[in-house]
Amino acid sequence: MTERLLEDRDGPRDECGVFGVYAPGHDVARLAYFGLFALQHRGQESAGIATSEGGMIMTLRDLGLVSQVFDEEKLQGLAGDMAIGHVRYSTTGGGAWENTQPVWRDDGREVALAHNGNLTNAVELFAELRERGIEFRGTSDSEIIAALLSSSPEKRIEDAVEAMMPKLEGAYSTVVMTPDGIVAFRDPNGVRPLALGRLGDDFLVASESCAFDIVGAKLVREVQPGEMISLSERGLEVRQAVRSTRIAHCVFEHIYFSRPDSRLEGRVLQQVRGKMGEILWREAPVDADLVISVPDSGNPAAAGFSRASGIPKDDGLIKNRYVARTFIQPGQELRKHGLKMKFNPLPEIVEGKRLVVVDDSIVRGNTTRQIVGMLRDAGALEVHLRISAPPIRFPCHYGVDMSTREEMVAHERTIDEIADHVGADSLAYISLDGVYEAVGTPAEDHCDACFTGRYPLGEGNGGKFALEQLATVPAGGR
Ligand code: SF4
Repeated sequence: MTERLLEDRDGPRDECGVFGVYAPGHDVARLAYFGLFALQHRGQESAGIATSEGGMIMTLRDLGLVSQVFDEEKLQGLAGDMAIGHVRYSTTGGGAWENTQPVWRDDGREVALAHNGNLTNAVELFAELRERGIEFRGTSDSEIIAALLSSSPEKRIEDAVEAMMPKLEGAYSTVVMTPDGIVAFRDPNGVRPLALGRLGDDFLVASESCAFDIVGAKLVREVQPGEMISLSERGLEVRQAVRSTRIAHCVFEHIYFSRPDSRLEGRVLQQVRGKMGEILWREAPVDADLVISVPDSGNPAAAGFSRASGIPKDDGLIKNRYVARTFIQPGQELRKHGLKMKFNPLPEIVEGKRLVVVDDSIVRGNTTRQIVGMLRDAGALEVHLRISAPPIRFPCHYGVDMSTREEMVAHERTIDEIADHVGADSLAYISLDGVYEAVGTPAEDHCDACFTGRYPLGEGNGGKFALEQLATVPAGGR
């Protein structure tokens, strides 16, 4: 399967979702399947599950959506007391099969590993491991973490994780499984989310709490920055593996990445995003007849904007919910209608109206420009854009694909110039202070580098395909 998924949007793309469960006596592969199903929005290029039974790890992973990779028969073949799972959108390394996860390695200790994030020192670690003669099958930084743990001389996996964590730089919310148990750990900055849940007497971990809801589990708490949690026959063990000196939770998780029904930093995101819409109205009011959202991700902020302004809200754009599920590209003839495959405007709703169109973010601006054009064609009198994120001007080095700086519509453009570029009558973005007011936790505990250019963990090196270039050098020498 070489085609890329037909993109849902030209916005920022999540990188990965992880899941882990230790629950002897349960159908753990099925729990992992549904957990991943709930996390599908975090990565649509590949999916995988690994289980462990009788001292052996089995891994099944492939390109495609969770529902495409697994069927009943495959799930029944994955027996065990514990399982980990992964959905992926590639950030480091290409989208090839070799980079699907869970990664499996046996360099002395058998491990399967699922990782969400991006190592900023992957190039150095990769070179170091190759000097030691360690071969790699793929080119993802996740395999580096797996190789470090698999080749560690420490007897217990917990000690191997604790010894390794100070060597890693960047973002890593990770779940690793050995034949004996599961260990989940989060980088000391806590960039990407990771949560602990409970299902009866058993425990689970997942990128987001929505993965607990779907299997009837309850959120216990978030895994703390620098913390390691192990799940095994000894029960639940918690260790602070690395001290955290600068918390840097990704603020974009609150704005867009995480699902609206997930809870992050104590709040359900539907409400946080609704509040962002209310603040947008306070910061950038406009005389208009109707509020519409760019579905689905603009829905909560549009509802908040409508609530605060008293301007009615309706669905002026209908989204084809299944658009991300086709691998068939539209081809030349249909390409010019491409966006209508994703959004269809309703002239009966928007005709003759002064519209406020609420979206969660703009990256390159292509989709936004097309939406504005479509709404005008459908008879809108005015189109006023309100965006519940500040302008994105800098790339992410911590696990999110954002395009290059030059491709970003806000790069070297004023707000008025962006409004002109996308064809809107007016454009306003929420302020960063407004974002933090809605999030409700201190700004200094977050990363907002894609808006400010202030990278709390440094910028790293190499970019998405850096390891692919290095991989052509044979192991053990250059
Ligand atoms: S740069 Fe942006 S997307 Fe990346 S971690 Fe920071 S806030 Fe999140």
